[in-house]
Amino acid sequence: MNRVILIKYGELTTKKGNRKFFINTLYKNILLKLQGYNVKIHKDISRMYIEFEDKDLDKILDRINSIFGIHQYLVAYKVETNEEIIKNSVLEILKNEKFNTFKVETKRSDKSFPIHSLDFSRQIGGLILKNFNSKKVDVNNPEVLLNIEIREYNTYIYINSYKGLGGYPNSTLGKGMLMLSGGIDSPVAGFLALKRGIKLECIYFEAIPHTSIEARNKVIELTKKLSKYTDKIYLHVIPFTKIQESIYKYIESEYCITIMRRMMYRITEKLAKKRKCLIICNGESIGQVASQTLTSMSVINNVTNMPVIRPVACLDKLEIIDISKKIDTYETSILPFEDCCTIFVPKHPIINPKLDKCIEFEKQFDYESMIDEALNNVLTIEITEDNSKKEEFLDIL
Ligand code: ATP
Ligand code: MG
Repeated sequence: MNRVILIKYGELTTKKGNRKFFINTLYKNILLKLQGYNVKIHKDISRMYIEFEDKDLDKILDRINSIFGIHQYLVAYKVETNEEIIKNSVLEILKNEKFNTFKVETKRSDKSFPIHSLDFSRQIGGLILKNFNSKKVDVNNPEVLLNIEIREYNTYIYINSYKGLGGYPNSTLGKGMLMLSGGIDSPVAGFLALKRGIKLECIYFEAIPHTSIEARNKVIELTKKLSKYTDKIYLHVIPFTKIQESIYKYIESEYCITIMRRMMYRITEKLAKKRKCLIICNGESIGQVASQTLTSMSVINNVTNMPVIRPVACLDKLEIIDISKKIDTYETSILPFEDCCTIFVPKHPIINPKLDKCIEFEKQFDYESMIDEALNNVLTIEITEDNSKKEEFLDIL
């Protein structure tokens, strides 16, 4: 008997006008992720069918589990829509199942099939009771829920179905620039943004020699983990040493972090515009540290008009950690390499910074030219899930 993977779209169904675009994008994303497997994919308005080779099933399902836009998936037996064939197939399929209680559910989208859904479920139920010893029907909590979906030419019979990742297909909602540090929060923020169909590029600020190459490698590894859920990702590494050293030379210590983050935002905005990103995304979480009080956030945010999306803003640290474990970034994030945010942390960073004071402080050094210089020397790394890495200096400005 032939088996197919059946994909159900879920949330896409709310996007009436864009439905075709969403489905076509999902189709392309699935094709891309299943490159290297011998599959055939057919799509219609409510689902996709993937024909595959039996030996590849587990690996393909692993891939399916990392594709956004899939609401539910299942592996179904595909048989001809013919009463006798369906009945024989059900008996054949259940031979390999261990169960005591069961329920049959029939959906008949082909109304030319002569038996009504409820009647057909009853008939199949009777057939199971007759052919297998000591089985019972349990309509509330069956061990086996046998689904029969009758369509015009083919009927799909399956037992289990699985929850997909949900969200919108990758790249359906435009591009954002993710501020990716080596911490726990920003990779989770990136994952949640990807889930909303946002394509991502990443920006990472490093301050060599105060930060190590291991810290950069950690961010590369995190980017690789994120790329599992999308296509390749560009990681832009910004040389931040000069700016950071100037901040610590010229700025009052309690304002250092505030000013540093204003510089990061300025650079991120410039790069984001250059790379045609519509939003900035980061891992700020309200109240987590001094720079994430509402006052700090508004003073820092003041340097840009670009929308800043903070997917973990309202999550507790434990909730963020939970997600990071699920997406397998946690173990990398907790590796102990210093980030440029942590090396010069003042004893008492201000929690209620004043905007006019920031502007006054910033007059003390020529940060504009330093920002341009940093952007002129950005190292861009193309990162894919399978470890291939391409480095280049892009002409960003
Ligand atoms: P994370 O928040 O990712 O766990 P963190 O706690 O060290 O790392 P914070 O000081 O909380 O970082 O910074 C808040 C956000 O600012 C980060 O989530 C990230 O989006 C951004 N950010 C901080 N440091 C960097 C950096 N070196 N490069 C790029 N983005 C950064
Ligand atoms: Mg944080």
